[in-house]
Amino acid sequence: MSYTLSVLVQTPAHSALAGALSYESELALAPGTLVRVPLGKRDLLGVVWQDADLTGHEPEAMALRPISGVLEGMAPLNRQWRELVNFAARYYQRSCGEVALSALPPQLRDLTLAQVARKLQSKSRPLAATKEPLVAPPGAPLEQGSEPIGTDAGVTPSDEQTLVLSELATQSGPFLLYGATGSGKTEVYLRSVQQLLAQDPNAQALVMVPEINLTPQLLARFTQRFGTQHGPAGVVCMHSGMTPAQRLNGWLMAHTGAARIVLGTRMAIFASMPHLKLIVVDEEHDPSYKQQEGSRYSARDLAVYRGRLEGARVILGSATPSLESWHLSRPGAQGGRYQRLLMPSRIGEGQLPWVRRVDMNHQPKGAVISAPLLEAIKTRIARGEQSMVFLNRRGYAPVLQCHSCDWKSECPHCSAFRVFHKIDRTLRCHHCGLTDRVPRACPACGDLDIAPIGRGTEQLEEHLAQLLAEVRRPATALAQAGTAVRIARIDADSNRKKGHLQTQLAQVHAGEVDVLVGTQMIAKGHDFRRITLVAAINPDGVLFSSDFRAPERLFSLLMQAGGRAGRERDFSERSEMWVQTFYPQHPLFVALKSHDYPAFAQQQLKQREQANLPPFSSQALVRAEARSQQAAQDFLMAARASAAQLADLPGFDRITLYPAVPMSMQRIANVERAQMLIESPSRTALQRFLSAWHTLLQATRALPEHKGLIRWAVDVDPLAI
Ligand SMILES: [Zn+2]
Ligand SMILES: [Zn+2]
Repeated sequence: MSYTLSVLVQTPAHSALAGALSYESELALAPGTLVRVPLGKRDLLGVVWQDADLTGHEPEAMALRPISGVLEGMAPLNRQWRELVNFAARYYQRSCGEVALSALPPQLRDLTLAQVARKLQSKSRPLAATKEPLVAPPGAPLEQGSEPIGTDAGVTPSDEQTLVLSELATQSGPFLLYGATGSGKTEVYLRSVQQLLAQDPNAQALVMVPEINLTPQLLARFTQRFGTQHGPAGVVCMHSGMTPAQRLNGWLMAHTGAARIVLGTRMAIFASMPHLKLIVVDEEHDPSYKQQEGSRYSARDLAVYRGRLEGARVILGSATPSLESWHLSRPGAQGGRYQRLLMPSRIGEGQLPWVRRVDMNHQPKGAVISAPLLEAIKTRIARGEQSMVFLNRRGYAPVLQCHSCDWKSECPHCSAFRVFHKIDRTLRCHHCGLTDRVPRACPACGDLDIAPIGRGTEQLEEHLAQLLAEVRRPATALAQAGTAVRIARIDADSNRKKGHLQTQLAQVHAGEVDVLVGTQMIAKGHDFRRITLVAAINPDGVLFSSDFRAPERLFSLLMQAGGRAGRERDFSERSEMWVQTFYPQHPLFVALKSHDYPAFAQQQLKQREQANLPPFSSQALVRAEARSQQAAQDFLMAARASAAQLADLPGFDRITLYPAVPMSMQRIANVERAQMLIESPSRTALQRFLSAWHTLLQATRALPEHKGLIRWAVDVDPLAI
């Protein structure tokens, strides 16, 4: 007797093998069982996807190949997990096989059956798990005192925290926890998890953060608080910075239920957790929750869906929620579906920083650091406090230019300039990586008069060093008075050498650095406790960006950056956030001045509503890449024309297909990129249309005239247009 199994395997994005494949098996394996199956000459990991069929005597059944083996001793992936995968595949227009298999740890795919069996066996031995550290806290070591004041386990929660915790315990959510930076959101997460694990001996909690390397504090606090009280594998991590072995171990611990808490980045949303009862999405507004390649899912949105599937509570937390979540958490009477919880106050006596706008119209032309800002930085140095200055452009200068012939340091392969890095005298393309020595003379006319235009973090660091050359540090416990001011720079360049970033961060924490210069990277996540001044040097460019989400991102970045200042009670009274701008009366800066996120959100949502932009409409993009812009756009326009065949589809009249246009970064590494926007006031109508259109897109792709197309993809709910 034999059975027919339908099995998902990893298939290329848009291949004809998108569905489950049929195999023969002597056992009626349950859906969710992991198996190895032959495909062509290869042997692949697969997941049984549907109930097994008893094979009848139809002759075609005879042709099925048998599965090559079963991963013994491993429980099948449960129904909720499979439904999550089905939903994500459907919603984001990818194949189930791709979503399911890429959600599993790579080692599971690569190891042989015997190797996996050995791993599983070693896991069943007590304490064996400690061989491969399951929790690999990257970044700052724990002793840096990252526990903000008043939030130790033994300390009574604030009134706001108590109220929020009781709402969380008695309501069903999903919740949007809107709390000021420093209001103690982490403590609310910790206590919610603690409460859950104490109540239910099996329950598991999933806690997600945007980028683990930039937010080591949350991780540190969870490991500090829970340690090994729920077993040696009670807390595990899941992020791409772990070794394959660590990832497999963590995954197995979550899958077997041994791990009670999983801390991870967006990929963790697909962790197999049979007893999942709570999902926390910290900094829910952060764009890194959206996967930017393959299946372009939003881990935050999937968290809400998964919560419903599992009957788990979902907490989305932020000091500057995404406008989508803010809109969804409007009062129920107005159609809101999330429950909004408020924690407006900072814990302890910490005050939000005083926001100062410097009107650059009144500063000398070409000034980089305005005189009042420089004075404020000097005052900080004299008091032994730290300042953080950020500029969203790394390198020395964004472009090198010849003054006689107007030559500019364009990248030959991308529609971008190569950035001048003075430190190693190179011109580097930040898109394709092309790096050359800086030419001595203009490559076009030979003139020696070539000069950098504009400013990056490298130059800002140099400039500050000149401005502060005469300033001396006061005496400290570590050093005598009279030493030179120390400036450190943190950006993607300083992150290049392994361990370099951690060393620099440690120096900042230890107080060895007076002024920290960097890109927005430094504004995120870190608790720099002695920083009492944060300054945004030139944020104006964003105000007039063509990307409708740019103001939202800037506001959140500035709020977050301001939140870095004055975390220490002793310092908070005098902590300041400086913004140098030519538009001090811009509503964004006015709202920032009063830390008024709700006012900012209201103003932005009004604009979006008038313009029919998300969250008042749903969007999807089709992107195409080809050697020529014409070929990329031809494919999109043909795809657009094919949509006419779907005119009878319900809701078709509510779909708007815009013409194909070049992407804002039109060319990267000699590949031309184009995109086409699809919009609808109805999410359901858009989903129905995309599903039906997918086969037409595939058929269009297969036409001989589109042979030149390199790749295409659909991006549902795109973050950047
Ligand atoms: Zn020239
Ligand atoms: Zn390039």
